[in-house]
Amino acid sequence: MRKKIVAANWKSNLLADEAVSLARQICTSDIPKSAEIILLPPMPYLFQIAQMAGNTIQIGAQNCSMYPEGAYTGEVTARQLKSAGAKIILTGHSERRQLFSENNTVVKQKINRILDAGLSVMFCCGEPLEVRKEKKHIDLVHQQLEESLFHLGPEQFSQVIIAYEPVWAIGTGVVATPDEAQEMHAFIRSAIESRYGGAVAKSTAILYGGSVKPDNAPTLFACEDVDGALVGGASLNYNDFIKIAQAIHYHTHA
Ligand code: PEP
Repeated sequence: MRKKIVAANWKSNLLADEAVSLARQICTSDIPKSAEIILLPPMPYLFQIAQMAGNTIQIGAQNCSMYPEGAYTGEVTARQLKSAGAKIILTGHSERRQLFSENNTVVKQKINRILDAGLSVMFCCGEPLEVRKEKKHIDLVHQQLEESLFHLGPEQFSQVIIAYEPVWAIGTGVVATPDEAQEMHAFIRSAIESRYGGAVAKSTAILYGGSVKPDNAPTLFACEDVDGALVGGASLNYNDFIKIAQAIHYHTHA
């Protein structure tokens, strides 16, 4: 059975005391153990939150350097993040693609650094609205997979979680319909099957991200190929995040 995962992307929100206190609340809540919880706090608090979390939930980072180490002022490497307690690093988020000009090649390099460091990858893919309107969304996501991810061997690929995040749904309050999400998730799984075979495709977790809230989570989680969510805005609110994490518990289709 595939892992069910609910991940919190806090982005550049929360000050240290707020972040630590929200993380503590989540760590000590009685979320059903059937779902894996991943918190992606801002980097300066990662060490403290990872120490506090212990084995209760996984802590990861929202970004890392494309370089392994050295004279890259201001950059934080995957190995440094690992030494601070990160278990997973997000790459390919649309905000980094749009605001920091990260293309598929940069994302590929970051993925290589993350895996070299012995960490897992959460790889974000997804299309902007214009591309969906032109009905080229499948092609674009396919290209993102091919150019950043499918160079990996099967063993490395087993350390990858995919998050499909349509750009038009991120932070907009406009969520993909279950049919739109399922169409893309099924496509991603079929692309993985063509590249790595059926067993790998079946065991890869594919999360949906983009305006997930407690009221829309149950219908998204009911989709055959949706294995959980990457949550931005709603993850900053303890009650909303817990409700989303509880919603995945009731879906055991995977
Ligand atoms: C995100 O940025 O990864 C995200 C899914 O944000 P939101 O839930 O706010 O749309």
